[in-house]
This record gives sequence, structure tokens and C-alpha cells, in this order.
Amino acid sequence: MKTPLTGKSAVVIGAGLGGLATALRLQQAGARVTLLEKNPTVGGKIAERRSHGFRWDLGPSLFTMPHILDRLFTDLGEDRANFLTLQPLSPTCRYRWADGYQFDENEFFWSRPDSAHLLRHAQGLYQLSATAFLESDPSEIFRKIFNPALLPLLRFLPGMSPFQSLAAASRRFYRDPHLQQFLQRFATYNGSDPELTPATFAVIPYVQAKYGGWFIQGGIRTLADSLLALATKRGIEIQTSAEAQSIDSAGVTLTSGKRILADLIFHNGDVLAAYQKLIRHPRAPQTAAQMSRPTRSISGFVVLLGVKGKDPSLAHHNIFFSDNYPLEFKQLFREKRPAENPTIYLCLSARSQPSDAPADHDNYFLLVNAPSNTTSIDWTQEGPGYADRIVQILENKFLPNLKSKIVHQEFLSPADFQSRDGAVGGALYGWASHSPLQSFLRPPIRSPLLPNLYFVGGTTHPGGGLPLVLLSAEIAVRLALKKYS
Ligand SMILES: Cc1cc2nc3c(=O)[nH]c(=O)nc-3n(C[C@H](O)[C@H](O)[C@H](O)COP(=O)(O)OP(=O)(O)OC[C@H]3O[C@@H](n4cnc5c(N)ncnc54)[C@H](O)[C@@H]3O)c2cc1C
Repeated sequence: MKTPLTGKSAVVIGAGLGGLATALRLQQAGARVTLLEKNPTVGGKIAERRSHGFRWDLGPSLFTMPHILDRLFTDLGEDRANFLTLQPLSPTCRYRWADGYQFDENEFFWSRPDSAHLLRHAQGLYQLSATAFLESDPSEIFRKIFNPALLPLLRFLPGMSPFQSLAAASRRFYRDPHLQQFLQRFATYNGSDPELTPATFAVIPYVQAKYGGWFIQGGIRTLADSLLALATKRGIEIQTSAEAQSIDSAGVTLTSGKRILADLIFHNGDVLAAYQKLIRHPRAPQTAAQMSRPTRSISGFVVLLGVKGKDPSLAHHNIFFSDNYPLEFKQLFREKRPAENPTIYLCLSARSQPSDAPADHDNYFLLVNAPSNTTSIDWTQEGPGYADRIVQILENKFLPNLKSKIVHQEFLSPADFQSRDGAVGGALYGWASHSPLQSFLRPPIRSPLLPNLYFVGGTTHPGGGLPLVLLSAEIAVRLALKKYS
């Protein structure tokens, strides 16, 4: 069947989730597609590590909004269930504090009167923003938001106004400081400080409550592997260890000197890196300088542990909160140093997939927020000590005798995210959402400099996280189709 892209050539730079989904959608629309990846393997942040009988997902571990992934497969004429098995998690997450307070995020929690009140507002906001914001290009937002059918939903805005912070909203919806901190934590889903993030980000817990948290059987890495298998089967030319060095309107030049001409170019790496290093246009340096000004999102520091025994107090996903959240973000954003007492996320995929650890062992994936864009920290020097500190905090406050049970330990720092994924300064989500403008006007999907250049992935619109990255691919290919129809 002839489509607007039949006979057109497209090159996709970067084979993260965004690049893989874009390549498949372009091929489905009739384009001849070349997918370039600088690393020896595809997947970007969706990486895994195997050692001594343990397996850890190194990046994303919580999957939500499965309908967006299903839509990718449906649009490709495939059934997701033939490729990936999703397993619902209950609880979605267990939250713990050093004072002994804890709760499970499950249907019971979301039916509490205060949580139900929050969800009612967040649902209204989600309905208001889903089509107009999440599923549209920024150029289409204003036309879509002034849809008269959406007017009744505007009544939910005062409770979650973009001009108030998520922290302020948390104090309005919850009396208990533990629950306020729980709600504030959703700002970190986009690498931001809850005191500066617009209250509209309270739609994230709504999405999590409505669509649930899922594990992908085989590990989240299976997501990248299955898209790679599909891309290979469909004849997409995949070149790994192929780094793009420059982009101009006629195509892409690799660091090897090889030139690939293309009608359409899609960049899946960090948008800032593209403007700083790749795009050949007289205004690219000026655009890069402007883009460098707003605060970048936080990075992450990961500790992988192999642990003997299975602690019955742990769920698949666990959060151990710090006692002083404002101090944690002050240290990360203003002082640009690792938090002394960070909130710690612990994922134990072996709870859903026992083969991820040897018998009577568990695979601990620990993640804490870390500063990005720091030149003063040498992570090869500071990393081992900081990893030990995180383990010590867990042992002192939550998991007695943890250290004596560790049989394997290693870490990943912001420097690894910078070198492995090309994330500028190690920032995991591009820019922090520290104002309404920064939150809603991320760098656009269509480049204003080169008419055939598009961006996909977590640093462009609508933002970071697996479902949003899939949406960026959907929007980018729709825009390219529009150009030729
Ligand atoms: C530790 C961690 C935990 C996370 N947890 C979650 C979670 O629980 N749930 C969730 O939904 N999301 C989570 N995320 C976020 C999610 O992983 C990302 O938003 C998503 O994977 C980003 O995909 P992407 O396609 O935008 O980019 P990336 O995965 O960064 O892929 C970009 C690719 O482009 C390649 N590339 C860059 N420059 C070039 C070049 N010049 N030439 C060729 N190739 C190039 C890179 O090598 C990379 O493979 C987490 C991320 C991290 C790091």
C-alpha cells in the first residue's frame, strides 16, 4: 500500500526506546530506514547487567500506561502479547520511613478519602491535558486546549494549578507529612524538585493509580530486545557502534567518515547534545547556548547488590524516604553535590522473576537521585564511598545486617549515563520541570533549524519515562507524515 513516506529515506540516530519505536513506525509508513546506534547494543537506558548468577535491569524498572505500548504494536499490525508478557504488580510500591511509618500503594490506599480526592482532581487534569499536551506537538497545544468540550474540566485547575508547586498541592491534599512526601516524590519522575515543580505533575500518581505498575517478564530489557527483533525482521538497516558526528539537511555523517543521505532525520539522543555538537547550521551554537540556561534534570546513582537471603519485609518496588526532603533537593540542585541522606529506591525484580537471582538470594537495584552537570565530582573516586554510604543508611535505618549478607556490589554514576547514553551532564530527563514554561515547552519535536530534522525521546516533548518516550515517537512520525501528505 502506498503511503506518504513510500520511497522516502529516513535515518534515526540512537536506538533507545524512542529510536526503536520511531524506526518501526517510519518503516510501517513506507520509508527506507537506517537506525544508527553509537553503542555495541541497542536499548539506550533500557540496559541490563548479568553477573554471578544475578540479573539487574540497569535503567527503568517500573512500567506503566501499557496501552501506549500496545498501541505501538497495533499500529504495526502486531499483537503485543505475542512479543511481551506484562505482569501486574500489587502493591505497585511499598513506602517506608525511618520512624516506622509505612504503607503499600494499592487499591486500598487509593480509596482513602484524601487519596480519592486527589485522584478526582488529577483525573480531571489528565482528561484536560492528555490529548492537548501528551499526545500533541507543542505547536498544536494551544489550539487543542481551547476546545470548548474541555471547558468543564477547567474547574480542576485551581487545585493543581501550574502556578503552584507540587509540594504546595501535597500539603493541601494530605495532612500527614509522610503522605505529603509521597506525593512530592512524583516530581522526581521528571528529575525535578517538588518545591519548584508545578502542581499539575499530580497527574502522574493518577496515571500510576489508573494504569497500574507492571513488570515485563524477562526483565524490562526484553522490551528493547523485542523491538530490535521486529525491526530486524522488517528489514530496517541497524548499524551498531555507529556514532553520528554531524547532521545537515542532506543527511548524517558518522565518526567513521561514512555519509548517509536521507530525506528525513530523527535524533533520539539528548536534544542539547544535538545542538551543541551535531547540527550544522549557523544558528545551532546560539540555540545550544539558550538551551543550556534552564536547570537540567537530576541524574541518578545506582548500586547493584547481590544479597544472600530474602528479606520478607521487601516488595518488588520499595522506597525508603529521607527525613528531610527539602535538604535533599537543596544539596542536589543548589549545592550540586550528592545528598547526604538520600531517599533510596530499591527494586527487587527477583520477587516477580526468581531466576534473576540464585536460590535464596535477591538482586537489589538501588537508585538515588544524584546531581547532574557537576564538574567538581570525580565519580571514579567518590563512587565507591557513596555506594557504601547508601548501603549503610539502609542498614542503619531499615534493613539490619544488610552489609553482612552482600555477596556482590557495583555501582553506576552520572558519569556512566553521560558516556553511555550521551546524556549531557548525566541529566536523565533533559531539563528539570521548574516552571510552567519549562514543563510544558520542552524543546520541540520538529527542529526549527533544519526542516527535515525531528527529535524523539525523553529530552523532547512530552518528557521522560517509557510511555512518554513512546508518545514522542508517535507524534514525530505523525508530523513527518503530515509534511508529505
Ligand atoms: C536509572 C534510571 C531509572 C529509570 N526508571 C524509570 C522507570 O522506572 N520507569 C520509566 O518509565 N522510566 C524510567 N527511566 C527513564 C527511561 O529509562 C527513559 O526516559 C527512556 O528509556 C529514554 O529513552 P530514549 O529513547 O529517550 O533515550 P535513551 O535510552 O537515552 O537512548 C538514546 C540512544 O541514543 C544513542 N545515541 C546518542 N547519541 C548518539 C549519536 N551521536 N550517534 C548514535 N547514537 C547515539 C545512545 O547511545 C542511546 O542508545 C529511568 C532512567 C534511568 C536512567
